This record gives sequence, structure tokens and C-alpha cells, in this order.
Amino acid sequence: MDIERVGVIGFGLMGGGIAQVCAVHGYEVSVLDVDDERVTRGVDTIRARMERDVARNRMTQDTCERAMRRLHGTTTYDDLAACQIVIEAAVEDIAAKREVFKRLGAVTPPETILASNTSSLPLSEMAAASKRPGKVIGLHFFNPPYALRLVEVVVQDSTDETTVADAMAFCDSINRVTVRVKDTPGFIVNRLLVPFIFDAIHLVESGTATAQDVDQACKIGLNHALGPLATADLIGLDTLLFISESMFEEYGEPRFKAPTSLRRMVSLGHFGRKTGRGYFTYE
Ligand code: NAD
Repeated sequence: MDIERVGVIGFGLMGGGIAQVCAVHGYEVSVLDVDDERVTRGVDTIRARMERDVARNRMTQDTCERAMRRLHGTTTYDDLAACQIVIEAAVEDIAAKREVFKRLGAVTPPETILASNTSSLPLSEMAAASKRPGKVIGLHFFNPPYALRLVEVVVQDSTDETTVADAMAFCDSINRVTVRVKDTPGFIVNRLLVPFIFDAIHLVESGTATAQDVDQACKIGLNHALGPLATADLIGLDTLLFISESMFEEYGEPRFKAPTSLRRMVSLGHFGRKTGRGYFTYE
């Protein structure tokens, strides 16, 4: 399948990062968000990030300018009609995602692949909403998508094998590494990571160790690049809560139940790095 145009739904942490990777690798990319302000902010964030890379000699000015020319922000679904693949990275809420897939199924041609970056929600529901289940697949990128190369390719019961092959070839073309996994909440990485982060939070809540020392122990003792609490702040505490709630609902296991401090911080609007405050504070 020839892919030239990529659509992305949601200009947040993940959507913006995925759009950047696709534009840098030569695709025309249209990114849709709910209003002009978020679209403008999304474009500005990508530009600032790539200009920082240029200043640090990690990217040439030419690559940056070409990628920016390929990037188009929109609030209109019709602008996605010419895309051969659309990657949804909107809020982790099944009702919102169902609505997105219903609209994508109506506006794009039948051969367009409809992918979701969901961390934990059932793809089968998005597949049903799209009325094109054979073309619906999960492409679970990692945060930040421009730095982490893993993509979990999530296959639901009705995904066609050609869709799997095309989606994997697409990931290959943007220099990502794929693993294949069945449509189960949390897939591989979050199923392992979320209970680990929650145990780290319990250590802090019980006064066993400070957040700094828990993270330091994991970084030095386990050779992790980032400690579990800093990882929680990076994921976004709101997103982490959404993910854990759907895993808890599905598996019913206490290890997926969100700790009190996480709930409290989310209700106060402290979402981690993106709001400047979470288990740590940020400039
Ligand atoms: P985010 O809050 O940073 O961004 C979400 C964006 O989607 C916002 O700009 C919002 O305005 C937009 N949006 C919300 N509803 C929309 C709709 N109906 N139509 C179009 N745009 C809409 O969230 P994020 O961290 O980028 O997460 C997005 C998705 O990626 C979620 O499904 C999440 O589970 C998944 N994900 C997140 C991470 C992570 O570490 N944050 C990692 C992998 C996957």
C-alpha cells in the first residue's frame, strides 16, 4: 500500500510527537484538534522542539523547514479525506474515541487504515464504530514518540492481515521498531509498567522513601533511564489515571487500582510535566 498522507487526531503530547516523526520522514501530515488554539499551540510546540534540535546539531535547518512545510493543522474532518492512514491520539476516553472512529469511517475512503494510539481501551469498540473493522488497528507509540522507537502493533479480532502488514511497513518507514500484541488492556508495556509505578507511589505514600530516593534507586540500582515517578509525570497523571481505570475495570486486580495521591493530584489539575507539577515540580 502506498502511503503519502497521514492524518493524526489530537495535537497533544503524543499526537504532536507522532506528527513530527511522520513529517520528518517525508509524509504530508494533517493534524486535527478540537479548536484553532490547540492546533496553533501544537504547530508551535513542534517548531520549537525541532529548532531546539537544530540548535543542538541534532537536525539540519533544512530537515526542520521541510518537515514544517509538510505539517498541516486543521479542525475539519474533511481535511483528512485524502489520508491513507489516520492515527488517533485524542483523549483516553472510549466515548470520545468511538465518535472519532465513526467520523473517520464516514470521511475517509474504505482502504484508509484507521489506527489508534490508545494505551488501554478496547480497539474492537473503535472498529465497530468505524464500520470498517478490517482496517482498524492499534499503533501504540511511546512517549516521547520522536525519541522512543517502540510501537506496539495491536491486533483486534477483525483486523485484516494486510492491514497488519501495511501498518508494520509504515512503522518501518518512519524508523520505528514494532512488536505484535493482541487487543488486551495495557498490551505488553503498560501491563508491566503501571503496577510498577503504583508500587513506587505506595512507597512514597507510606513514607518508606522520598520520591527522589525511589527514583534514584531505580535509576542507579536497575539502570533505568528514568525513575517510575518521573515516568508517571512524563506520561501525564491524568492519562495514567485513565489508563489504570480501564485496566482495573477489565482485570479487576488491585495492582491496577490508582493510588490515592494520584487521584488527588489529578483532581487538583496537577498532571505532571505538562502542567509543571506532579510527583516532582518542573520549570
Ligand atoms: P494529551 O492530553 O496531551 O493530548 C490529547 C489531545 O487530544 C489534546 O490536544 C486534546 O485537545 C485532543 N482531543 C481531545 N478530544 C479530541 C477529539 N474528540 N478530537 C480531536 N482531538 C481531541 O494526551 P496524550 O498524552 O497525547 O494522549 C493521547 C492518547 O495517546 C491517549 O489515548 C493516550 O492513552 C495515548 N498514549 C499516551 C501516552 C503518554 O505517555 N502520554 C503514551 C502512549 C499512548
